[in-house]
Amino acid sequence: MQPIRTFNVSPSLPQRLEPLRKLAYNLHWDWNVETKDLFRRLDPDLWESSRHNPVLMLGTISQARLLEVVEDEGFLAQMDRAARQLEDYLQERTWYEKQRVGHASDEKGQEYYAYFSAEFGLVDCLPVYSGGLGVLAGDHLKSASDLGLPLVGVGLLYQQGYFAQYLNADGWQQERYPINDFYNMTLHLERNPDGSELRISVDYPGRTVYARVWRVQVGSVPLYMLDTNIEPNNSYDHNITDQLYGGDIDMRIHQEIMLGIGGVRMLKALGYNITAYHMNEGHAAFSALERIRILLQEEGLSYPQAKQVVASSNIFTTHTPVPAGIDLFPPDKMLYYLGHYADVFGLTKEQYLALGRENTKDSSAPFSMAVLALKMATFSNGVAQLHGVVSRQMFKSLWQNVPTEEVPIKAITNGVHARSCVAKSTQELYDRYLGPSWSSAPTDNPLWERMDAIPDEELWRNHERCRLDMIVYVREHLVKHLRDRGASASEIASAQEVLDPKVLTIGFARRFATYKRATLWMRDVERIKRILLANKDRKVQFVISGKAHPKDIPGKELIREINHFIDEQGLQKQIVFVPNYDIYISRLMVAGCDIWLNTPRRPREASGTSGMKAAMNGLPNLSVLDGWWDEADYVRTGWAIGHGEMYDDPNYQDEIEANAFYDLLENEVVPLFYDRDVDGLPRHWVDKMKDAIRLNCPFFNTARMVREYAERAYFPASDRFHTLTADKYAPAKELADWQQNLTAHWFDIKIKDVNVSSGADIEVNQIVNVKAKVDLATLTNNDVQVELYQGAIDADGGIVNGVPVVMDYQGEDKDGLSTYTVDILYNTSGYQGLSLRVLPKHKDLSSPYEPRLIVWAQ
Ligand SMILES: *Cc1c(COP(=O)(O)O)cnc(C)c1O
Repeated sequence: MQPIRTFNVSPSLPQRLEPLRKLAYNLHWDWNVETKDLFRRLDPDLWESSRHNPVLMLGTISQARLLEVVEDEGFLAQMDRAARQLEDYLQERTWYEKQRVGHASDEKGQEYYAYFSAEFGLVDCLPVYSGGLGVLAGDHLKSASDLGLPLVGVGLLYQQGYFAQYLNADGWQQERYPINDFYNMTLHLERNPDGSELRISVDYPGRTVYARVWRVQVGSVPLYMLDTNIEPNNSYDHNITDQLYGGDIDMRIHQEIMLGIGGVRMLKALGYNITAYHMNEGHAAFSALERIRILLQEEGLSYPQAKQVVASSNIFTTHTPVPAGIDLFPPDKMLYYLGHYADVFGLTKEQYLALGRENTKDSSAPFSMAVLALKMATFSNGVAQLHGVVSRQMFKSLWQNVPTEEVPIKAITNGVHARSCVAKSTQELYDRYLGPSWSSAPTDNPLWERMDAIPDEELWRNHERCRLDMIVYVREHLVKHLRDRGASASEIASAQEVLDPKVLTIGFARRFATYKRATLWMRDVERIKRILLANKDRKVQFVISGKAHPKDIPGKELIREINHFIDEQGLQKQIVFVPNYDIYISRLMVAGCDIWLNTPRRPREASGTSGMKAAMNGLPNLSVLDGWWDEADYVRTGWAIGHGEMYDDPNYQDEIEANAFYDLLENEVVPLFYDRDVDGLPRHWVDKMKDAIRLNCPFFNTARMVREYAERAYFPASDRFHTLTADKYAPAKELADWQQNLTAHWFDIKIKDVNVSSGADIEVNQIVNVKAKVDLATLTNNDVQVELYQGAIDADGGIVNGVPVVMDYQGEDKDGLSTYTVDILYNTSGYQGLSLRVLPKHKDLSSPYEPRLIVWAQ
């Protein structure tokens, strides 16, 4: 039945409780211990049953309970305190204001950064995320708010979000798609001044699709999300924002058009002057096409000029080291859905498709969103140092003749938001002994030295309480899950007794993708059983959780294998698979387990972040050297499985690494954990816990990460945007024209004469003078930078990890050749070499690599 009228009914609160509404509608409650506690206190049962959703709570709480708390002095005092904390938080003088004096208020310098992501994992009651990428995006917004960055998030609001997982009796993953009720979530509908819904529209083949805009307030940062589930969209279009990563390739392209193109239109409709655009993964790369179109059609720029402005202010973060993880669209689909942009840009179909191709001559190659993003950004990065190395290797063909290590894809190592992932009681402990700024304090802050001031006893008892909390939750959660499935009474009864609150607990939770090898630990059945059970004073148990993508059958098989293993071996008490992994379960596990296990196949884990959350709670990590762990202090803060080897034979690798895992457990982890002093304290284990916190918390923290994005990417991109767009885009036009001229004459450049002051035998630290004559043809010394490139020669006869040295310009000789000179020396002995090269130079370029032009001496 269709309604003839609709109403948006909001909760009715007694006047004295009005502050609750404001608190509920700002996600700051998620990382403020006091506010979260307040909502729990308001109604503990409702807090649990609403999935920790304060808006739903206020909408459904009984009037009687509200009248009760109005009379409760203690409650009111806590509410007023929480309200004041939010007020203070929003007014605080921030890191950003101190770094960018003048930019926030001054008209000319005004700036905003837009952060585009297909998913955001902020809290468990907003299920529009699938895993690590989303949680990272959510933590990015939280830290941007803490730092006071003028950042806005852009995403899609999924009606069904990502699926809820349950298992059938055979241990096979089933998916349920609960409908998100936006009106009872922490969401504001954006409206026009006349009160009507704010809407944007995007053209799709043969029709226009409309979307409305919802906002989640994340501290001071707004996250805007598009929703196409409205009239007059047709039913297919209603579903564009239905499921995260749902549907087929056509649906995927529909979603990415809405995210990228719709996102840019939305920001415009909201009146933002965005000066830096951050594409978190390639899903939002179509935003670049729309930005170019606007500059062409509304500002009268040419295509090269518009592309220059767009690229100079774009930032791209890649998250996958596996080519199969990248979105690829067949050329015909690309032209069918987005061919009209080629016409607007004045490009041929092939030139247009080349924007998404590594090999621009291959007319059958699919259109890659990562390649589009890399070509449309002047700052790109991977998410850990090792992932940076892998990404430079993966995409080096986009910078022909540039040495791999110089390929301009940087690395900014991921982090996690400390106040979101550290258990409440543990936060209070750190607050007390380190001071409240521990959650964002950098590595060199002296407060970290106060770690030793935390009494071992207190840290350990707190941790044991976290373990117990987790076990209690796991039992309840399991019982409920079994009841829903109609399991037998005896099964339900035994679920109430799983795990032992005193036993060393290994945590493993993440997406079930095969490269993460969730079953590596059960490779040798007898050995793992011995470890778990043989010594009754030194038992070991596992808590495992995670979802497989609905279409990932091998991933689902791993889940079933684990559940079969548990049943066949009768290990129901020792090994628990917790269904429906989400942010809430993750937070309990990273606090309540004793050690965090990760066994990806190196180098497939771009970063990994759950191990960082565990470390911040004081858990040592036990992991393969991949992603973030490869750059952590894996000796003092945990254990490394293997030494970072890579193998050709996966079976052999599994054998070696499973054995390394068993050895570490038997010889190191278990003995250290059960080595107790007279007070029953594992002193050496606690030392390791303290190291895990002290050494990892300050670095693998989004406070550090977002500061790094700000300083390395947002500030420079925003400054370039202001520079290039000043005087009606005059500098952008100048730069684009200069580049066109440069490209046209680049290959006329010839390195002619190279004169080295010594023969083939030299000594360490002996000064060698190098002179070169370069024919710059119609270009001049102002357009180029001539560099000497020196380094050791490898077995293949090439210079490896060479170091560039800029040569001094000495003027033109009588034949019109430009001469350059430099003195160098070699500070190590061996077989060394040098070469010369020419790169472009212009003050408005982000780097000499930006025009993708380089000439080497022959
Ligand atoms: C942190 C987190 C992840 C990411 O974990 P990885 O170790 O990077 O795989 C995934 N899902 C949830 C719910 C998380 O909280």
